[in-house]
Amino acid sequence: MNLNFSPEENAFRQEVRAFIAENYPAELRAAQDSGRPLTKAEYLIWHKVLAKKGWVAPSWPKQYGGTDWTPTQKYIWSEESARAETLPPLPFGVSMLAPVLYTFGSDEQKAKFLPGIYNGEVWWCQGYSEPGAGSDLASLKTKAERITGDDGKEYYLVNGQKTWTTLGQYADWGFFLVRTDPDSKPQAGISFLLIDMKTPGISVRPIITLEGGHEVNDVFLDNVKVPVENRVFHENQGWTLAKALLAHERSGIAGVARSKRNLEKLREIASTEHSDAGGPLLGDAFFRRKVAELEIDLTALEFTELRTLAGESSGKGPGPESSILKIKGTEIQQRLQELALEAVGHYGAPFLRDLGHNAGVGPEYAVGLAGDMFNGRKTSIYGGSNEIQRNIIAKMVLGL
Ligand SMILES: Cc1cc2nc3c(=O)[nH]c(=O)nc-3n(C[C@H](O)[C@H](O)[C@H](O)COP(=O)(O)OP(=O)(O)OC[C@H]3O[C@@H](n4cnc5c(N)ncnc54)[C@H](O)[C@@H]3O)c2cc1C
Repeated sequence: MNLNFSPEENAFRQEVRAFIAENYPAELRAAQDSGRPLTKAEYLIWHKVLAKKGWVAPSWPKQYGGTDWTPTQKYIWSEESARAETLPPLPFGVSMLAPVLYTFGSDEQKAKFLPGIYNGEVWWCQGYSEPGAGSDLASLKTKAERITGDDGKEYYLVNGQKTWTTLGQYADWGFFLVRTDPDSKPQAGISFLLIDMKTPGISVRPIITLEGGHEVNDVFLDNVKVPVENRVFHENQGWTLAKALLAHERSGIAGVARSKRNLEKLREIASTEHSDAGGPLLGDAFFRRKVAELEIDLTALEFTELRTLAGESSGKGPGPESSILKIKGTEIQQRLQELALEAVGHYGAPFLRDLGHNAGVGPEYAVGLAGDMFNGRKTSIYGGSNEIQRNIIAKMVLGL
């Protein structure tokens, strides 16, 4: 494995860095810095700039809008994006649904849905989890029955409840797992439907999370009529698509480049804050040790990710390493948040940033850290909890 960047790769890094510096929207930077929740339009500004440039979906095949970058170029792209703290395009359309569509969708579905995902015109949400189906996703109960509509067309009539639907309050469309055959084995009776969120019978109810944010929702489906042509792939074979999508979701969660940036920030905070004994907190042996352990783990994870990339360059898929990346990546993100909060102490506590509760209480870098720490508990749960990833490693890597 050669880990040195070539002159061409270094030139590419400069190109990416300059592009971000010249084009990252100032109003979005200001909104991010303010710490208030972003509006729907703000979430999409950078996405739309990247779409114009042709850089919104580096991993897609070239024919659908991919950049044809090498894995190393993609790595450089994610490093530079993290360094500049850009807002990544939302994963639901670009990283989760699109790979399923271009792999399993019909030509009509690709033509209808991929451009809206690419251009940021259609916001997608993920309707997988249910109150009784999270880790054991195959036990999902939302029911879809075939009916003939008054117009003579074939529909699915969908009834049930989805939960934890991230940013579903903004979604134009959702991809849903539904049960089309209640009599077969759990995995064998599931289909994958694309549903227009404006269809009568859909209601979205907020779930307010620990830090006071509205990020997730319950979605209720009450006699929702979905045209049969909105099913991707064959009836009752949606589980194959569900698993493929989860692998894409998982490999995006590790966030190594962003953790590297957050480690730098933690060092800055701990160089400014004082320890009980006086002097900078980073000079305190106990605190310094925790930062050093974190850095060692992050470096090890970075090399694991680079090995995965080197494997991809030679045509190997990510495989069960995506579970290792997910576990270690999310544990590191959570430890970073805990240490940042430990460093600022009670200054991190007022976390309702949009209400300005923090004004004048402490340093700027402490704003919202408690809220971030609470919110960050999610990373070891979603995308398949870390316990479930350990089960996958036990089975697929260790053969237990
Ligand atoms: C912030 C957030 C956003 C989310 N966004 C979405 C979304 O947009 N769309 C969507 O469909 N879902 C979403 N989810 C749901 C997420 O995928 C589920 O929460 C997750 O799969 C876990 O399911 P559960 O919450 O039902 O927990 P459960 O499955 O009930 O698990 C409870 C606990 O038991 C453990 N456990 C369960 N089974 C096993 C086992 N076999 N071995 C060992 N331990 C086990 C779990 O690890 C967990 O600690 C989101 C969740 C969160 C927290």
